[in-house]
Amino acid sequence: MNTSRILNLLSAVALLSLLQVCSAGLLTDPAAVSNKKYDFVIVGGGTAGVIMAARITENPRHTVLLIESGASHENIPLPLRAPALGVRSGSNEPWTWNHTIVPQIGLENRTFTYQTGHILGGSSYVYGLYTRSTDQIYDKIAKVSGDNGWSWNSLVPYFNKAEGFILPGNGSEWSGSDFESSAHGTRGPFNTRLPIFPNDIDPFIAQLVATVPGFSKRHDISSGKALGVGVSQPSITKAGSASNVATGYLTPDVLARQNLDIITGARATKLTFKSSPSGPVANGVQFTPSPNANTTSVFANNEIILSAGAFNTPQLLQLSGIGSSTLLKSLKVPVILNSPQVGRNLRDHVTMPMQWLASVNTTLDRLQNATFVTEQTALWESTGAGILTASVANHLGFFRVNSSVFDAQTGDPSAGPDCAHYEFLFRDCWQSFTLPYPGQGSYVSMGMQVTSTSSIGTVTINTTNPFTSPLIDPQYFTSPTDIKIGIQGVRAARQAYGSPIFKDILVREFGPNPNATTDAEIEAMLRHSGTTLFHAVGTAQMAAFNSGVEKGVVNPDLTVKGVKGLRIVDASVIPVLPDAHTLAPVLAFAERGADLVKAAWP
Ligand SMILES: Cc1cc2nc3c(=O)[nH]c(=O)nc-3n(C[C@H](O)[C@H](O)[C@H](O)COP(=O)(O)OP(=O)(O)OC[C@H]3O[C@@H](n4cnc5c(N)ncnc54)[C@H](O)[C@@H]3O)c2cc1C
Repeated sequence: MNTSRILNLLSAVALLSLLQVCSAGLLTDPAAVSNKKYDFVIVGGGTAGVIMAARITENPRHTVLLIESGASHENIPLPLRAPALGVRSGSNEPWTWNHTIVPQIGLENRTFTYQTGHILGGSSYVYGLYTRSTDQIYDKIAKVSGDNGWSWNSLVPYFNKAEGFILPGNGSEWSGSDFESSAHGTRGPFNTRLPIFPNDIDPFIAQLVATVPGFSKRHDISSGKALGVGVSQPSITKAGSASNVATGYLTPDVLARQNLDIITGARATKLTFKSSPSGPVANGVQFTPSPNANTTSVFANNEIILSAGAFNTPQLLQLSGIGSSTLLKSLKVPVILNSPQVGRNLRDHVTMPMQWLASVNTTLDRLQNATFVTEQTALWESTGAGILTASVANHLGFFRVNSSVFDAQTGDPSAGPDCAHYEFLFRDCWQSFTLPYPGQGSYVSMGMQVTSTSSIGTVTINTTNPFTSPLIDPQYFTSPTDIKIGIQGVRAARQAYGSPIFKDILVREFGPNPNATTDAEIEAMLRHSGTTLFHAVGTAQMAAFNSGVEKGVVNPDLTVKGVKGLRIVDASVIPVLPDAHTLAPVLAFAERGADLVKAAWP
């Protein structure tokens, strides 16, 4: 037999065995994958997990199983498709994990629901303002990890690779001075653009940035420098729908790949390990569709990749025996690896929505009227236009406080002099996660969030039941520095909306407490009404290669320290809280994470 015939035969055998291992597509029956071996098993089909699956299977030699606990992205419900509807905090939806955070001592012992995406595509479905944060955040990550690949300059190609920025068309209210096209990727799967639906407050904000010192215009908030007020970049597709990674990355040709299986409705409950002379090796995942159903096992030849998000990734590690040995022993979980940083370093943004009564009746509060929503839904479904294309906010602002407010001991908590201490979302409607819409009237809100936070929280299991949420304790406002920034942010919000510029649209400050004026009163208001902006990171933080498990959970290549065959790619590895919203950082981390995997397994 000549060489080419042998090669052909070998390729045919290889192809046949590949087809036997997996058949492409969306699966729900555990029997379809039971006891199968894939090169990579990815746990969590969210923002990072979907990107990992799509990118790794670009190499036809690699077989991948993606395990997602939520439903598939077929038949996406209206609130996840229409940008203006989004997830409303407090309402427990079937497509969200409805975690309850532990009572927060910094928030008058309040507790609330913390939702994250529970659907193929994960939290990329819920809301959608695209912000890359400041370059100095990534340069700090490069410094703490000792890997220049995480610096801003190194990550820009990955931000660009993920992003499909849509240039504003004719008739847009925005011009070239509102964005910098070279700051964006235009060919990536995740669509971003400038806002489509005009807000009543847009022209007033234009005047604010033109005339009031301290609110200067930022040309493009994605350029690596964001201080000032800029036009927002919502994640909305050309068709006027909310972008998400599932629709963006899992295109029909990707779903048709013979080397990719995706199983939905499958909750991973445990990672399994085998021993080796060089330590434990992760080799399998157990999952089940429901608490009372049988457990199914699948196995990995190369790696298991954990992408279950900032709460569920540390939970799954701890359930599997990777975490603080004291914690694991107290719950009688066999210890695979004492890794005390698992579930530590939970960082998040804390927000303080403030509301002003508006004198116009055309704000987005019209969406409180069910009949109007029905009419607008029909319009949007048929044309992709109308008020349902409205984004969360058409303008964002990023600001610093005077460094004299920080005491000498703790110093400035930001990652660098260009980073924001707090952020504004200029919203054309009632916004509050703690107070319901008052039932009538039109409002303009300021979502003021502390972006350079110092409060550090934890995620800890207190049961071995994988269907029970871990204890999530973000420790909001336990750092006095966060309160100091919050007080300055509230004063600055009043300075902005209190400007005479807004006299034709704003009647008066309405809530949550316009009478809070002294520092002590504003602090009380922050503690009474503050809540999350859903930007949790850091619970499996990255640290330098030569540092041990006392310093971090993963290495700069995102492999888990102390074990083999396990990598984490999601928000939990980000060691420094970005000073803006966290979706774009996760997109960039996942794009680079996929390249790291490809380099390790050529
Ligand atoms: C309500 C909300 C609003 C937000 N708004 C914005 C915004 O406007 N702009 C912005 O930039 N960022 C925003 N974010 C933050 C951003 O969406 C997240 O930082 C990012 O999506 C996190 O990506 P991830 O891959 O780490 O996790 P996720 O995208 O949450 O993915 C985790 C996935 O793992 C699955 N999973 C978890 N446990 C298991 C298990 N045991 N077995 C199987 N599957 C499992 C989940 O179902 C989910 O699909 C928002 C987040 C939330 C929750």
